[in-house]
Amino acid sequence: MNKSNTLVKVLWRGEIPIEIHRKAIKNSYYRMKNHPLRLECSIPYGVSDAEVEQFLVLHDEWIQKQWQKMQHRASTEIMYEQGDTILLWGKPVRLEFVIVEGMRKPSCYLRENHLIIQSGVLLNVTQREKLVYEFYKNEMKSLLPSILTVHSKRMGVTIPQWGMKRMKTRWGSCNYKAKRIWLNVELAKRDQQMLIYVVIHELAHLLVPNHGPHFYLVMDRYCPSWKSLRKELKY
Ligand SMILES: [Zn+2]
Repeated sequence: MNKSNTLVKVLWRGEIPIEIHRKAIKNSYYRMKNHPLRLECSIPYGVSDAEVEQFLVLHDEWIQKQWQKMQHRASTEIMYEQGDTILLWGKPVRLEFVIVEGMRKPSCYLRENHLIIQSGVLLNVTQREKLVYEFYKNEMKSLLPSILTVHSKRMGVTIPQWGMKRMKTRWGSCNYKAKRIWLNVELAKRDQQMLIYVVIHELAHLLVPNHGPHFYLVMDRYCPSWKSLRKELKY
């Protein structure tokens, strides 16, 4: 059996992805791993989700410390190599590089849980990273028009102009005057629910530009679970 077949799911603690692998083992193992940075948990079949959750809560300090340490190290270390895992909509996707003779422009496509990246020549890390970024952008681009249409209509706002970019500290932003919103490409790594939540948040700014009480009334109305979503996303 392929190792990746043991993977059951990805949970999140704030910004930390937690990969839960169910295995025929005696003890649970927790380790921080790279590419991408995540806490990998190998859990015996007999241990319940609640017990895993309990462990994560109990060892939160350890997890946070490890995360910070590894994050610092990983910031210069993401290599996007053959077999590395990236996250797409909250699920792991493995990178597979294929050389296609004579191919001029690299391209990539999803096949099950693999992202196949084809190119005529070996790509360097900058090119690999750029392709993955473009892939994330295209994924967002394919979902956003319908999400924006549905929720703009529901909220009674005109569909705004929109764009995507990489942002360090924000998941989205809204220019109230220009009626334009920006969304962070990093959202493609998270559950799609998070993208929808951020879209609703930014659309709400078309009604209320600030974060005053009226803003949260709008959120209550159009995204009743915004509090737990915000907590999960730390937004
Ligand atoms: Zn806001």
